[in-house]
Amino acid sequence: MLSKLIFASHNPNKTREIANLLDGHLLVQSLSDIGFNQEIVEDGLTLHENAHIKSSTIYQITGLNCFADDTGLMVEALGGEPGVYSARYAGEEKDTSKNNHKLLSNLTNTANRKAKFVTVISLYLNGTEYFFEGVLQGSIGHELIGSEGFGYDPLFIPLGSNRTLAQMSLDEKNKISHRKIAFKKMADFLLNLK
Ligand code: IMP
Repeated sequence: MLSKLIFASHNPNKTREIANLLDGHLLVQSLSDIGFNQEIVEDGLTLHENAHIKSSTIYQITGLNCFADDTGLMVEALGGEPGVYSARYAGEEKDTSKNNHKLLSNLTNTANRKAKFVTVISLYLNGTEYFFEGVLQGSIGHELIGSEGFGYDPLFIPLGSNRTLAQMSLDEKNKISHRKIAFKKMADFLLNLK
């Protein structure tokens, strides 16, 4: 019976989020938990490729069941940009403020503000790879509003809301987020294996 899963991430918040969804049925360990400190180069051209690169690297090195996630913001009027380049949209230093200002500037005078966050998970389970996807539809605001969250949250207004993700509490965001949707799909899949 499956008892442990490695999460190919160093992010303790994400690790806690997926552990909560698994409700104690599985032990989830991050790369920090298992002392893995090598850099994994995410040079894929799609979210699927990047998630695959991370999970397959960890699977090959450790032989343990594991998963990885990759997220991007896709803006319709920009042909899906920044997409897989969301973290480094304005440069390799991955500066959130520069990324947000570049996005606003690229959308100046653009009426179509439609956008979506997409999270893709690659899961390696006993040598077989499975993918799960979560999407949050919304639009890009005209100014940065709110101080919660991270990344593009101050610019992203979920469909049906009049507030940005950065105006929502973590709990509120985690109920609707792209990552939550993808995590939940994987958690349901894993819990149904039992
Ligand atoms: P990652 O794959 O989770 O590291 O996400 C890549 C990049 O997408 C991050 O550096 C952020 O710029 C952006 N991003 C991912 N998730 C979110 C989110 O929930 N809110 C805002 N920005 C996000």
